[in-house]
Amino acid sequence: MAKSNVDVVVVGAGFAGMYLLHELRQNGFSSRVLEAGDDVGGTWYWNRYPGARCDIATTDYQYTWDPELFEEWQWSEKHAAQPEILRYAQFVAKKHDLYSGIDFEVRVEKAAWDDAAKKWSIHTSTGETITSRHYVMATGCLSVPKDPDISGTDRFTGDVYVTGRWPHEEVDFTGKRVAVIGTGSSAIQSMPHIAAQAKELVVFQRTANFSMPAQNGPQPADRRARLKADRIAYQSEARMSPTGVPMEMATVSALSVSREEAFSMLEKSWQKGELLQIGATFSDVGINRAANEVVCDFMRSKIHEVVKDPETAETLSPRGHAYGTKRPCMDTNYFEVFNMPHVRLVDIRKKPITSITETGIDFAGESQEFDAIVYATGFDAMTGAIVNVDITGKNGITLKKKWESGPLTYLGLTTVGFPNFYMITGPGSPSVLSNMMVSIEQHVEWIRDALLDMRAKGFDTIEPMPEAEEDWRVHCTDCADITLFQDTNSWYMGANVPGKPRVLFPYIGGVGRYRRICTEALQRGFVGFEMQGNGKHQMNPGPVRLMQPDVEMMLDAMAMLELPPIEAMSPAEARGFMDASATMRAPGPDVGEIVDGTFPGAAGDLEYRIYRPASQGPHPIVVYYHGGGWVLGSHTSDDPMCRDLCERADVMIISVNYRHAPEARFPAAVDDAWEALKWVAGNARQLGGSADRIAVAGWSAGGNLAAVVAQMARDNGGPALCGQLLLTPVTDGSRQSASYDENGEGYVLTKNVMEWFWNHYASTEDRKQVKASPLLAKSLANLPPAMIVTGQFDPLRDEGNAYARALSEAGVQVKRIQARGHIHTSITMVDMLPSGKSVRAKMASGLREFFVGK
Ligand code: NAP
Repeated sequence: MAKSNVDVVVVGAGFAGMYLLHELRQNGFSSRVLEAGDDVGGTWYWNRYPGARCDIATTDYQYTWDPELFEEWQWSEKHAAQPEILRYAQFVAKKHDLYSGIDFEVRVEKAAWDDAAKKWSIHTSTGETITSRHYVMATGCLSVPKDPDISGTDRFTGDVYVTGRWPHEEVDFTGKRVAVIGTGSSAIQSMPHIAAQAKELVVFQRTANFSMPAQNGPQPADRRARLKADRIAYQSEARMSPTGVPMEMATVSALSVSREEAFSMLEKSWQKGELLQIGATFSDVGINRAANEVVCDFMRSKIHEVVKDPETAETLSPRGHAYGTKRPCMDTNYFEVFNMPHVRLVDIRKKPITSITETGIDFAGESQEFDAIVYATGFDAMTGAIVNVDITGKNGITLKKKWESGPLTYLGLTTVGFPNFYMITGPGSPSVLSNMMVSIEQHVEWIRDALLDMRAKGFDTIEPMPEAEEDWRVHCTDCADITLFQDTNSWYMGANVPGKPRVLFPYIGGVGRYRRICTEALQRGFVGFEMQGNGKHQMNPGPVRLMQPDVEMMLDAMAMLELPPIEAMSPAEARGFMDASATMRAPGPDVGEIVDGTFPGAAGDLEYRIYRPASQGPHPIVVYYHGGGWVLGSHTSDDPMCRDLCERADVMIISVNYRHAPEARFPAAVDDAWEALKWVAGNARQLGGSADRIAVAGWSAGGNLAAVVAQMARDNGGPALCGQLLLTPVTDGSRQSASYDENGEGYVLTKNVMEWFWNHYASTEDRKQVKASPLLAKSLANLPPAMIVTGQFDPLRDEGNAYARALSEAGVQVKRIQARGHIHTSITMVDMLPSGKSVRAKMASGLREFFVGK
C-alpha cells in the first residue's frame, strides 16, 4: 500500500521523474511518482508518430548517472528512433526497480500548499489525497498538445491524429487521402512515412521551417572515440558547454569571410548531420542578423537543390525569421517528399484554411476531401503542463494567476509564493535550448542536493526571495535581448498559443553558465532563498553572480588563451600586447570625418584625433581622454568607442593624447590633459565645433583625468564645461574599496594590474593628491553635470559610485549608470559585445543632454 504522506511527490515518469525517483530513494527520502501514462518514458511514451527520432546523437542523449549503462546498452543508430528510446527508458526502469515507485495512469488535478502544516496537499484523478513536504513537477516542456485553433475541428468524421498523442497501435495510411497540418519537427519527421503510404497527401504549411538531413547511421565515430577515451572528461565538457553537447566554440564571424568560404564552412557542418552544428559554424549566428542571413541563404540553397519545382522550393524556403529562432529540424528525406506526384503543398498564408468540414478541409475557395487529418500543430510549451494542474501556493494564489503575464521563476527551478515547489527544466532554465538529458540530470541533482542540505541544516522550507526572482527575470531578459529570438513568432516565445504572454521562455545564457549559477546558489548557502525550520529562519539575498552572457563568453575565451598577466610584463611589452589585441577588434561605426593633428602639450606636441559627425556643424565638442592606466594607450586606442559615441550622440569627439608613465609620472598626464582642454577651448571654432558647448569624457584612467580637469576648469575660472562623462573612472588611489576584493580577480582589470598601473604612475604620497584622486577634493560643489558609469564586476566600481555620491551630495547634477553584468573593459567593446550597446546608448544620450539649451 503506497504511503499517503511522503517527503516528495514527483509528477511525471519521463527521464526526469525516473532519475529523481532513483536519487530520492538512494538518499532515504520517501516519495510517490505519479504518471498519467501507463509506462515510463514521458515524451518518448506519447510521441509515437512514424519517424519520431531524437535530434541529438545517442552519444549525448543518454543518462550519465549510471556508468554501467554505457556497457549494458548499445544504441543501434546515431539518432535513435522513438521505440528504441522508449525501450531504453524501460530498461533503466527495470534495472533500477523504478516501476515499483511509480503510480501509473494517475493525474494530479490539484496541489495546494498548507502554510500551517508546511506541506503540499495533492489531489489525484483517482480521488486520493497525498501530503508531501516537497512537490516536483517533472512534466516535460512539450507534453501538452496545443489546440489547433482551426474552426470545425470537431466536425470531421474521418480519422484524426495528433502527433503528440499518437495511437499505440500502428496506423496504416495505405490508399488514404491524408492532410497534414503543420510543418514543425513532428510533421517534418513523419511526413516521409505518411507520404510513402498515402494515396494522396496535402501538406498545409503556415511557416516554412529550416531543416537539414539527419544523416542517420552509426554513432559519430569522433564522439564515440572521445567518450571511450575519457567518458568523464567528455561529460564534463557537455555539462559546461553552451548547449549540453561538446562542441568547438566558433571564433569566426560569418561576415569576416567571403560568401564562398562561408558556404564551404557551412557545407562541412551540414555533412556532420548534427542539429547544433550549423548554428555553431560562426560566432555571431545567434546575435547578428546579417551573419544569420548567411546561414539562411545556405539553408535555402539546399532546399532549392532538392525540390524540383522552383515555386514549391520557394514556398518551402523560410523567409522572415532568423535561423535558430524557430527550432530548426532534422529530417530524413523531408524535402524530397515534395517531388512526389501525389504530394501537394498548400501555403496557408496565401490560401487560408477556412474550416474543417465533415469530410475534409475548406481553404481559399477549395473544398478537399480527406480520409485522415494529422494535426502536427505543436504544444503549449514550457508552461502548459505546469499550469494545467491547479497549483495553489501561499495566500491562495494560483501559479496560473501568478504567471498570467509570463512565468516568473528563480533559476527556472523555483518560484516565489510556492515553497518547496520545484520544476525540472522549467521556464527560465536552458531546457528546450539544450540537450535535455544534460539539463534534466543537472536539475535532478540540484534538487537532490538542496534536499540533502536542508535535511542536514534542519530546514523544512525553501522559497526564493522576490529580489532573487526579479534579478533572474532581468538576467534572462538581458540574455534574450542580445539574441534574435524576440523578433520571431515561435513557441519559444509563447507565440503559438493565442493569449500566451510573449517572452522568451527558456534561458538562453547557456548550459554551463547556468549550471555554475545554480551551483553557486547552493554552495554559498542557498543564495536568493528564504529558509525556515526548527525555529531557524535564514535569508540569503545574495545575489548570485549574473554576468552579461557575451561578457562571460569573452572571459571564457580569454581564459582558454592563457594570456600572460599584464603585471608580469614591462610597460613596453604591455603596450605591444595591447596594440596587437587592437588589430583584432571590430572597427566601430563610420563617422562623418576623422582628422588627425597635434596640439601643444605641457612638454611638447601631442597628437589628437577628431571624430566629426556626418551632420551639419558646428557640433558640441567632447574632449576625450583614453583609458590604459596612464601607462598604455594613445589618442587612437579607444577608436571604436569614440566613433560609436560620435555617431550616437552627434557630437564631435576630440581624443587627445597625453604623456604616459613610467616615462612621465604624475602629474605629467594631468598637465597634458589640462593643456589639451585649454587648447581645444581656445581653438574650438577653427576645429569646427562650438566654443560654448564643451564637455570632457574619459574611460578608466582617462575618466580620472576628465574628472581632474573638470575640477581644474572650475578652480581656474574656465574653460566653462557643459558636462563630464566618466566611464568606470579611477577616483581614489589612496585606498581600495570593497569592489577590489569582490572583483579583484578574473575580470580582466585585476587588483594586481591596477596596482601595477598606480605604481608606474604615482607614488603612495602622490596618490593622496587631488589631481591623482579627485574624490579627495575638499569641495565638489559647482562642478559641471556628470554622468558616471560603473561596471558591476569592476574593481573600480565602488570608487566610481563614491564619486557620483559625493558629487551629488555637493549639489552637482549626476546621472549614474550601473552597468549590470559588465566588467571594466566590456562597455567599450563596440560591435563585439552586444550587451554594451544599451549602456553606450545611454552614455550618448547623457552627452547630448549636457548640451541641451546651450
Ligand atoms: P511545432 O514546432 O510547434 O510545429 C507546429 C506546426 O504547426 C508549425 O508549423 C505551426 O506553424 C503549425 N501550426 C500550428 N497551429 C496551426 C494552425 N492553426 N494552422 C496551421 N498551422 C498551424 O510543433 P512540433 O513539430 O510538434 O515540434 C515541437 C517541438 O518538439 C520541436 O520544436 C522540438 O523542440 C520538439 N520535437 C523534437 C523532435 C526531435 O528531437 N526529433 C521531434 C519532434 C518535436 P507556425 O510555425 O506558423 O506556428
